[in-house]
Amino acid sequence: METLLRLALQKSGRLSEASVQLIEACGIHFNRANHRLRCQADNFPLEILYLRDDDIPGYVADGVADVGVVGENVVAEKRRPVEVLERLGFARCRLAIAVPRSTPYDGLADLEGLHIATSYPNLLSDFLRENGIEASIHEISGSVEIAPSIGLADAVCDLVSSGSTLLSNGLKEVETVMRSEAVLIGRPDLPPEKAALLDALRFRIQAVLKAQNFKYILLNAPNEAIDRIVELLPGMKSPTVLPLAESGWSSVHSVVNENDFWEVIENLRAAGAQGILVVPIEKMIV
Ligand code: ATP
Ligand code: ZN
Repeated sequence: METLLRLALQKSGRLSEASVQLIEACGIHFNRANHRLRCQADNFPLEILYLRDDDIPGYVADGVADVGVVGENVVAEKRRPVEVLERLGFARCRLAIAVPRSTPYDGLADLEGLHIATSYPNLLSDFLRENGIEASIHEISGSVEIAPSIGLADAVCDLVSSGSTLLSNGLKEVETVMRSEAVLIGRPDLPPEKAALLDALRFRIQAVLKAQNFKYILLNAPNEAIDRIVELLPGMKSPTVLPLAESGWSSVHSVVNENDFWEVIENLRAAGAQGILVVPIEKMIV
């Protein structure tokens, strides 16, 4: 029987869409007919299991799944023996402590003696212990942000991205417990055939992630500006320079990092570049 790598994804929630997009960007096709809980890819030996995110570290640790996509916050909370293999760059958020806006807050000591509601009791208790704070933890599994307004707790420790949910519940963020993003996790002791499949999958994931951080750039410039422009564009090895049909002009092709993109464009224009085109890169293998 063909060996399949089993990948656990969140069934439905904030991780689901981006997880599926990542696998598809890796060129792996699968069709999740009528929301089945498992399905097999047609062009890669991969089986996908759809689970609650909270269960993914446990299923990976127990070998039900070989790898999974889940938030680092859940991995850290569950404390199961899994390895973080790749940081995936989506579902960025932070686990934060928030108090009602009307509560004065001058620092950690103000948390002393409070009742704090959270779905992350392990991470919160570590944080409180490390900071020498005694507070009581009230574990609830959802809708944590309403706990103070219904008199269930004095503060919350919950996931935040923009902070608008806290704001609309009359809360203010006062401490960051942990920063998180989606990660690919795996169990350490995969049999060799599965380890080889995982290597192939990670190679593709790395190519997709790398490509997301870069853009392909094409521009025209007079030949006397080329040396200066090439200095501005390190490229993968070095930029490609091709003569244009119009004499005295060349076309330059290269890649630029998303992070310093606008600065590079400004400098290129100042150096004499014209007709600058910037296009997304689908995969990047270096
Ligand atoms: P499930 O039904 O699978 O248990 P859930 O309600 O626990 O779903 P989601 O709300 O879908 O989970 O969040 C999944 C993950 O998305 C979180 O563990 C976290 O890593 C990430 N995330 C990113 N931004 C936020 C945010 N603003 N609030 C909550 N989670 C966020
Ligand atoms: Zn969950």
